Amino acid sequence: MENEGLYDVTVIGGGPIGLFTTFYSGMRELKTKLIESSPDLGGKITMFYPEKMLRDIGGVLGITGADLVKQLEQQAKTFEPTIICGQLISDLQRNEDGTFLLTTSTGEIHHTKTIILTVGAGIFKPIKLDLSGAEFYENSNLHYSVDELETFRDKNVLISGGGNSAVDWANELISIAESITVIHRREEFGGHERHVANMKKMANILTPYELKELLGEENLIKQVIIKNLETGDRHTIEVDALVVNHGIQGDFGGINDWGLNLREERFVVNGAMETNIPGIFAAGDAVTYPNKLKLIAGGFREGPIAVNSAKKYLKPDSEPMSMYSTHHEKLLVVLGQEKTT
Ligand SMILES: Cc1cc2nc3c(=O)[nH]c(=O)nc-3n(C[C@H](O)[C@H](O)[C@H](O)COP(=O)(O)OP(=O)(O)OC[C@H]3O[C@@H](n4cnc5c(N)ncnc54)[C@H](O)[C@@H]3O)c2cc1C
Repeated sequence: MENEGLYDVTVIGGGPIGLFTTFYSGMRELKTKLIESSPDLGGKITMFYPEKMLRDIGGVLGITGADLVKQLEQQAKTFEPTIICGQLISDLQRNEDGTFLLTTSTGEIHHTKTIILTVGAGIFKPIKLDLSGAEFYENSNLHYSVDELETFRDKNVLISGGGNSAVDWANELISIAESITVIHRREEFGGHERHVANMKKMANILTPYELKELLGEENLIKQVIIKNLETGDRHTIEVDALVVNHGIQGDFGGINDWGLNLREERFVVNGAMETNIPGIFAAGDAVTYPNKLKLIAGGFREGPIAVNSAKKYLKPDSEPMSMYSTHHEKLLVVLGQEKTT
């Protein structure tokens, strides 16, 4: 089914960077569509850490993931883009006039002059526990993400993993859980040094350990058996909830076949956020280039650059960037600060 209309820009991926890119594209007076595969906007924030506090965004002292997404959504809608959720873009076809046809995995077609890929790591799923019967507990007390802190109130929580996310979750849950135990295969933990130090002060840390067995009653894990990787000793730990953070696996699906240059499973872009295919740009976690800052703050810079490049591609004599937003009529109206004179 072909969707109505030819768009100037189609942003693929409705994570934080896709949302901000959509806003900026509207500000540059480009007819914009945003397509997200999952039912909800917000990307990794919505999927993995809606209740975590973010404190590394310029000018924002602290904001929960969910509130940041809410504000990004509101901002993205300023210039009335078309926003579509629940469609996974998979195929690309180039027309003779240079425009693109994008096809979703369920057969919808979208027509666009340029594309900005903000697909993160693609369709991502947590790496699951490779232990027999683990999937049986997924609807009870085995968690691959922390959706609601309240779920863990007064519980004895075991976290398995040593990356950024495991450290973040341990620190978030410390204030609400009865106890936090973190097991990790190595001595070293990922993440900010201060966060790691805080976790070590507040939680019970066991290294180098890995999960070996889940022991349950009815549909709940009651105990886990862990193994010390140096001595081979095994211990049994009582748990009320098990949080596993062994990383995320991403997959670009059909986009892998578009002929885009990839390095370490990211799209290679230049400083203008151009990919090797004219008319296709990219930003956010999806891209790689020297000194890439793989944080939301980094993507917030790349999205507008990608939009400016798309604008230049469509209209070579256009201004290289937008003027400041301060006096933009539409934004003054949105903020209720329109001029009365
Ligand atoms: C646990 C955790 C904690 C973090 N904490 C912080 C932090 O404190 N501060 C910080 O700056 N960063 C943090 N990050 C990193 C931050 O979340 C990412 O840098 C950010 O989400 C990147 O945004 P993005 O829009 O580029 O990609 P994503 O958030 O990954 O969004 C990509 C979107 O594209 C969609 N998509 C993918 N493929 C398709 C397709 N083919 N068709 C349609 N849609 C598609 C996906 O469904 C997804 O919604 C954290 C990450 C994790 C996992």
